Amino acid sequence: MADATTLVALNARIVACELCPRLRAHCTEVARVRRRAYADWEYWGRPVPSFGDPKARVMALGLAPGAHGSNRTGRPFTGDGSGDFLYPILHETGFASQPKATSREDGMKLNGLWITAVARCAPPGNKPTPAELRSCAPWLDQEIELLTNLRVVVCLGRIAFDGLLAHLIRTGKLKTRAGFTFAHGAEYKLPGGLMAIASYHPSLQNTNTGKLTRAMLVKIFRRARKLAEL
Ligand code: SF4
Repeated sequence: MADATTLVALNARIVACELCPRLRAHCTEVARVRRRAYADWEYWGRPVPSFGDPKARVMALGLAPGAHGSNRTGRPFTGDGSGDFLYPILHETGFASQPKATSREDGMKLNGLWITAVARCAPPGNKPTPAELRSCAPWLDQEIELLTNLRVVVCLGRIAFDGLLAHLIRTGKLKTRAGFTFAHGAEYKLPGGLMAIASYHPSLQNTNTGKLTRAMLVKIFRRARKLAEL
C-alpha cells in the first residue's frame, strides 16, 4: 500500500480498509446484532482509527478493538471495561483531558499521547490471527513514521510488544528479537532511538484478577512521561 502523508489521511485509509475478510465480517455482524444493553447504539463496525495528539511523544500500543467497546464507539478503548480502567489513569498522569471515555463526542482530548493498536478490527475471541496481524502491520509502520516527535512506546500486552519488535525488524532497524523479553515494567532502548516500556494489557481478565492494578499502570505512564521528558 502507498504511504499516506498525514495522520488524518492515514486514519481515513484505515477506516476504509477491507484487507481481512474474517475480521470485517465479524465486526459487521457484531454491529448488526448488537448487545442488548446497546440496542439503541448505531455501532461503528469499521476499522477503528487511532486517536490522540499528532505531536505525541508517547504512544500507547494496544491489541485490538473490543467488539462492544471501540467497535461500537469508533475510538480506541472507549466504551468498555479496559477503557474504564485506562482513561482515568491517563487523566491522572496528565495525558487525557478527562477520566471518562464514553463516545467519540464526549469531548476527550489527549495531550502528548497517541493511542493505537496492532490490529484495528475487533477479532473473534480477542485473538487476531498471525496473518491478520501481518496485514495490519503496515498501518503501524506508517503511523510511527508520521509521529515525528515520538520517543516512547508503551506496549499494552505481549502481542503489542511483539508487534513493535516486528515493526523494527520490518523497517530494518532490528535484526533479531534476541534479548527482548516481555515482562511488566521492562524497558528497552530500541535501535532508531525509541524507548519501549512493556505493560500488562488493561483487559478485564488482568484488572479483575489483580494481575494489573491501577498503581502498576499509573507507574508505567508516569515513567513514560519521564522518559519522554514531558
Ligand atoms: S485488521 Fe487491519 S488490515 Fe485487517 S481489515 Fe482491519 S484495518 Fe484492515
